[in-house]
Amino acid sequence: MKLTDTMKQHIFTHELGHFLETRLLKNPKDFWLVSDSGIFGEGKVTRRGDPYFEGILGTFNTGEAVAEGYATYRLNPTFLKKNHPNVYNFFREIERGTSVKNAVKKVRRYW
Ligand SMILES: [Zn+2]
Repeated sequence: MKLTDTMKQHIFTHELGHFLETRLLKNPKDFWLVSDSGIFGEGKVTRRGDPYFEGILGTFNTGEAVAEGYATYRLNPTFLKKNHPNVYNFFREIERGTSVKNAVKKVRRYW
């Protein structure tokens, strides 16, 4: 099966999300702030004691969750706003030039 143009657009935008994510989360403080915020998912521990991240939209670590959240924000904002409003609001704040720390704080105020 070949990728459709829509699929290619999603993959490309997801990869752009990684570009953004590596810059947003480059500071370990911001990485843990976002990871622990619950906006993009939750850190959990398996029965065997192995840590993992259960991200939104089927993602398995913070970076993937942010990249996929960004792709969804760009390509399907109505879906994101309805189903994951915190993610939507986070990117809206980032687009406005809000720092990661303040974006997390502001998103928490919507809860
Ligand atoms: Zn990815």
